[in-house]
Amino acid sequence: MTPPRHPSPQPEIGDAEIAEVVDTLRSGWITTGPKARRFEADFGAFLGDPALQAIAVNSATAGLHLALEGLGIGPGDEVITTTHTFTATAEVVRYLGADVRLVDIDPATLCIDLAQVQAAIGPRSKAVIPVHYGGLAVDMTALLAIARAHGLAVVEDAAHALPSTHGGRLVGTFDSDASVFSFYANKTMTTGEGGMLVTRDARLAERARVMRLHGISRDAFDRFTAKVPSWAYEIVAPGFKYNLTDIAAALGLHQLQRVRAFQQRRAEIAARYDAGFAGLPIVLPPRPAAGELHAWHLYAIRLADEAGIARDRFIEALFERGIGCSVHYIPLHLHPYWRERYGLRPEQFPHSQHAYERLVSLPIYTRMGDADVDRVLDAVRAVLRA
Ligand SMILES: *Cc1c(COP(=O)(O)O)cnc(C)c1O
Repeated sequence: MTPPRHPSPQPEIGDAEIAEVVDTLRSGWITTGPKARRFEADFGAFLGDPALQAIAVNSATAGLHLALEGLGIGPGDEVITTTHTFTATAEVVRYLGADVRLVDIDPATLCIDLAQVQAAIGPRSKAVIPVHYGGLAVDMTALLAIARAHGLAVVEDAAHALPSTHGGRLVGTFDSDASVFSFYANKTMTTGEGGMLVTRDARLAERARVMRLHGISRDAFDRFTAKVPSWAYEIVAPGFKYNLTDIAAALGLHQLQRVRAFQQRRAEIAARYDAGFAGLPIVLPPRPAAGELHAWHLYAIRLADEAGIARDRFIEALFERGIGCSVHYIPLHLHPYWRERYGLRPEQFPHSQHAYERLVSLPIYTRMGDADVDRVLDAVRAVLRA
């Protein structure tokens, strides 16, 4: 079989990133230090709200865990989120001994259904985690209104949403308790592995900084620069090992400078796909309102029923033509752990289930040229004609 010309998404790493990493390696300080600090400051500046604090971590999963921990989520509590996500969104709730209440999506946006959130709220509900699916921002105005009315905390899983807007505001700047971005290799910018926790809650920020590094009251860099003896520190809690290295932050400093240009290229690719699929039995990815930014982490189509080909066969046929596709996501309610833990059935999530059976994520990454996009379009047309 021909190897796919579009395998897993390829990061766009430039000379500036490489030079910065080399500089870090030569500097003698490779773990969390000055570059991680600068990356946090730059990330805060990118979001453009001085009231926000940005805390660099070694994954979005770590950031989500720290956010919920800082909010005091624990045994007996329930956290509401969408079934249509990656398991990391929900697993962090279980780390803390709390329970996950999965709800269905809105078929128009593929994001969490706000009416379902409302309906799922009970006496144990403490927080809700919306996911900006594919880079399309959730209606945060409506979600925050529901959360406020019921005293729920809000932690945004913003792994796909850099940069995305709702009401002209960047995801990360809403009045939620925290937002968490991912810099995993296939995300809209990357540090290899990494994430950023963003919050305007000073107490939560302080707790996350301490818990990010073993519950130490000052981080290692402070120890070597502050006036108190370099060996002095205090453990105030059983923390985690979630700090971002300076090697990773070196990548992030330059990726962040390019993230707007990356978004523009992704939006161009999405527009080219949209135009090329006109008239085909394909449901295009949901679009944001005019003037809003969509990060286009994913370009996820749904095969219309009149396409006359099963989703699995469609993906196989594209693979045979050298195009690698994926499915985002196999909903959590279908995975054995979540299904058995909460006795879940597909009928409880009709929209996620319906979407899942028809979803195909096509290649979208900034290094694709127009000719690469056209090759995907030609392959899709050929498969649907067959
Ligand atoms: C990638 C991803 C995560 C986890 O990000 P990591 O940085 O790999 O921990 C969480 N949620 C969603 C929706 C993701 O796509």
